[in-house]
Amino acid sequence: MGDAAQRLGEIRARIADAAKGRGRDPSSVTLIAVSKTFEADAIRPVIAAGQRHFGENRVQEAKAKWPELKAETAGIVLHLIGPLQSNKAKEAVELFDAIHSIDREKIARAVAAEMNKQGKRLELFVQVNTGEEPQKAGVMPADAVAFVTMCREELGLDIAGLMCIPPVDEEPAVHFAFLAKLAEEAGVSGLSMGMSDDFETAVEFGASHVRVGSAIFGGRG
Ligand SMILES: *Cc1c(COP(=O)(O)O)cnc(C)c1O
Repeated sequence: MGDAAQRLGEIRARIADAAKGRGRDPSSVTLIAVSKTFEADAIRPVIAAGQRHFGENRVQEAKAKWPELKAETAGIVLHLIGPLQSNKAKEAVELFDAIHSIDREKIARAVAAEMNKQGKRLELFVQVNTGEEPQKAGVMPADAVAFVTMCREELGLDIAGLMCIPPVDEEPAVHFAFLAKLAEEAGVSGLSMGMSDDFETAVEFGASHVRVGSAIFGGRG
């Protein structure tokens, strides 16, 4: 088992192997360490081990721990990977460097307005509900290309890529391949996909960002 810093090293090695196996440069894959539910003291050793990209799924939780952690170490890049309410757009733009959950026009507009107001550009991903699950966030696959185009042309947003969370009971590879195809159609290069159980498969299918939580920090109970 070991500690979080040791597990981080193992995950990095596995990402590098998966990338090389497909002739990809390992540095083309950004590992986001998902620290949701873990306190600052559990995160510090992972920062000390050199990790800089972190993911959180709630604005309030992130606000409680990251300003201090960011002040301690230069170069932290914070990714919002969970659903965003438009009334939290201001705080989200203040605190985060990237948002992976842009999934409706109202949110896209609120984030665009806040970025203009704050003079800050975030890296933005459009979340796609590749499994068309009723309870899950994300634009429907059939609407993904039009939504990216709308963000770009009407709101002036520079969309970095697409994000998905495959259904738990389905083969993730099918969803990763589908997301890659949609990204190509939409003319974006970023692919935020792959979690603790399937990040190597995601890298094989072209992930630019993998979001790994429990495999680094341990179970969330
Ligand atoms: C929690 C979470 C992850 C990380 O999940 P693990 O299985 O712990 O690696 C990745 N992406 C999103 C959107 C999450 O909410």
